[in-house]
Amino acid sequence: FIEYNIKTDTLVLMGGGAKLLSEEMIIKDYLKSNVSSNRLMAKVLEKLEECETDELVVFRDGTKRWLKINLQPVTNDLDEPIYIIGKAIDIQAEKEKQLLWRNLAQRDSLTKIYNSAACREKSEKFLLDRDDTIVAMLIIDIDNFKEINDNYGHLCGDNLLQKIAELLANKSGSNNIFGRVGGDEFLVLVKYPQGIEEVKNYCQRMLDAALQVEYQGKVIKTSISIGGVVFDGKTDYDGLYKLADQALYKVKNSDRNNYHIIEVNTENTSS
Ligand code: GH3
Ligand code: MG
Repeated sequence: FIEYNIKTDTLVLMGGGAKLLSEEMIIKDYLKSNVSSNRLMAKVLEKLEECETDELVVFRDGTKRWLKINLQPVTNDLDEPIYIIGKAIDIQAEKEKQLLWRNLAQRDSLTKIYNSAACREKSEKFLLDRDDTIVAMLIIDIDNFKEINDNYGHLCGDNLLQKIAELLANKSGSNNIFGRVGGDEFLVLVKYPQGIEEVKNYCQRMLDAALQVEYQGKVIKTSISIGGVVFDGKTDYDGLYKLADQALYKVKNSDRNNYHIIEVNTENTSS
């Protein structure tokens, strides 16, 4: 429990849990000090209304735990704020469950990489936050995958999908966004490419990966086609996806097992 005296800038901590947070139960010059949780206190003082936040707090022994902190002002008969009272509740278990569910909801159940919705959500967030730097999107589609299912069975197809997801994850760059956006279709959002050459290198590394799986004593091989766009300027997920898909269509209509990149900048478009 927390009680803050506005006039004296003194914070009093109460209850057993308080000892885990602070050696002192009475903290003088609280808002003048550099305690991270005093941001919420400052907000309550400014708005003079109840405020609540979930905060990852470092305990005295160095462990970190999520606490729900709730603070509210108390006024005197003249309606002047005199105290702020509140409580901090340990919500670590609840938060861990939440994070676990969130993580599961973002993953494709077969390959464990990001699913289509997560690729879109993460890419849209990145595209919204970014400055006008270059960005690239690649769509990777397995060649003649239906034949593998038809010839060796769906289970073999599933094994190959898992293997390809793993191989492509290693080639797609750890800072980039990578996921499965369709049956045999994967996506990479390359966040900060230096230019088209770097994107071509990504594509070549993916094409060079040994896309194969051993199934019932046989080595089943496949290839991929990649359509990409390198974009200089403001854009959104659907705009990039449409262009990358057009590029993929070109590769699928020629010999497959290759890549094609469309390069766009706000003044001039080439491919
Ligand atoms: P293309 O070279 O033109 O891409 O030919 P394709 O045979 O790969 O055709 P397409 O990409 O249109 O079809 C993808 C196939 O992937 C269709 C479907 O049978 C198969 N597929 C989709 N999801 C799964 C899955 O989860 N497991 C397996 N084993 N197969 C899947
Ligand atoms: Mg395919």
